[in-house]
Amino acid sequence: MSSPKLLAKWDLDHYWHAFTQMAEYESLIIDSAQGVWLYDVHGNRYLDGISSMWCTLHGHRHPVIDEAIRNQISKVSHATSLGVATPPAIELARRLAELAPGDLNHIFFGSDGSSAVEAALKIAFQYWQQCEQPRPTKTRYVALDGAYHGDTLGSASVGGIGKYTAIFEPLLFEVHRLHAPDSRLLPEGSGAEYFLQQLESLLEQHHQEIAALVIEPRIQAAAGMVFQPLGYLRGVRELTRKYNVLMIADEIVTGCGRTGNMFACESEGVVPDLLCLGKNLTGGYLPLSAAIASSEIYKAFLGDQNSGRAFLHGHTFGGNPLSAAAALASLDVLASTEVQSRLRAQCDQLEEILNELSAMQNVAEVRQLGMVGAVDLAPADSHGQCFPPELRFGHQVCREALKREVWMRPLGNTLVIMPPLCITKDELEFLGRVVLESIEAATQSIGPAALQPK
Ligand SMILES: *Cc1c(COP(=O)(O)O)cnc(C)c1O
Repeated sequence: MSSPKLLAKWDLDHYWHAFTQMAEYESLIIDSAQGVWLYDVHGNRYLDGISSMWCTLHGHRHPVIDEAIRNQISKVSHATSLGVATPPAIELARRLAELAPGDLNHIFFGSDGSSAVEAALKIAFQYWQQCEQPRPTKTRYVALDGAYHGDTLGSASVGGIGKYTAIFEPLLFEVHRLHAPDSRLLPEGSGAEYFLQQLESLLEQHHQEIAALVIEPRIQAAAGMVFQPLGYLRGVRELTRKYNVLMIADEIVTGCGRTGNMFACESEGVVPDLLCLGKNLTGGYLPLSAAIASSEIYKAFLGDQNSGRAFLHGHTFGGNPLSAAAALASLDVLASTEVQSRLRAQCDQLEEILNELSAMQNVAEVRQLGMVGAVDLAPADSHGQCFPPELRFGHQVCREALKREVWMRPLGNTLVIMPPLCITKDELEFLGRVVLESIEAATQSIGPAALQPK
């Protein structure tokens, strides 16, 4: 290996990082990892507090997943999905069809989350052109404010985070946009209905031109781990059914056990028409994503060679056998009694941690669903006001955490606590303590003046 100093130089000179202001980039170079721990090139260790951007579900170097990849690598590392299959990809497709609710039986593989969403959008579009009773006017989409579905132009079009999409506006297609169903914005005494009304009047007016609605079920992750009120998701399913609009569930963050159910949709008994998986599908080991379609949708794509019904879309590495082997192993680990028996206690422990944090000065709210925790940072007695964004308070807290051997990345002034499921009781306690100390330290470092609401 080149010296850490040289690596840092080359990193800065040549490696253009994702979602990163390179002019202020501070190198963090991970050389190895084990369980929840990341080790940098200097030998420092950091607890992986957000599962390496929400995907290393079982932590690093899990023996079962490592072994599955080694076994597969000794057979075949790649075969195209264009008319060819491999045993792990077939087995994974079958496993996902079994796990997915309802008649979600047909798995279209991609490599990244964005490509799964992109495929789902196009499948929904094409479906209406050629289903049994075609509705060629159904060409548009409904999406939520604050949504994040990826960075390709289609997935960005349905995205609703202005700072990511605004500059590309001329390149994006228009969508019908709903207010984010943010529980924090519910008026006293109202429930999911409050947000569903807007959807109903939109569908009533425009359903003839709408192909599909896209939603991150229960949690809008990149928006800041924004939670939807209970019943919202079910309401969306009922309304989309009523108005003959397809429902695409983007479970790229929430899927594969992260929220306590296999899929967040299941927590409200919802079966979408298309379901997207990514991120932790392979336990965060390798790129793999899936757009899972219902039998009803799939059927519309069948016909003879000349019917023009096939889905002429796909990516080179979709269904890659190494990735598929990792995914099968990760799902095995997830289903194991070892993981399942620990999960309840882990969620309870995370709840305790969040409770303790919620009592802190500068913590406005905490939220939890399964092993997803969120902490909103806001000035004490802020009455709903925020820290000025230029203060980057969330970032400052994470810098303090790094000094204390925990790596996290905030969403603005929301901290995400989302460790791998292999985390031990002691490690989770350590993580909670560091988050608490880091909020205290960041509070001290900004001093009382900066605490004034903007
Ligand atoms: C990360 C994410 C995506 C995009 O996945 P990539 O693998 O980064 O392309 C899509 N939807 C949601 C909800 C995500 O969090």
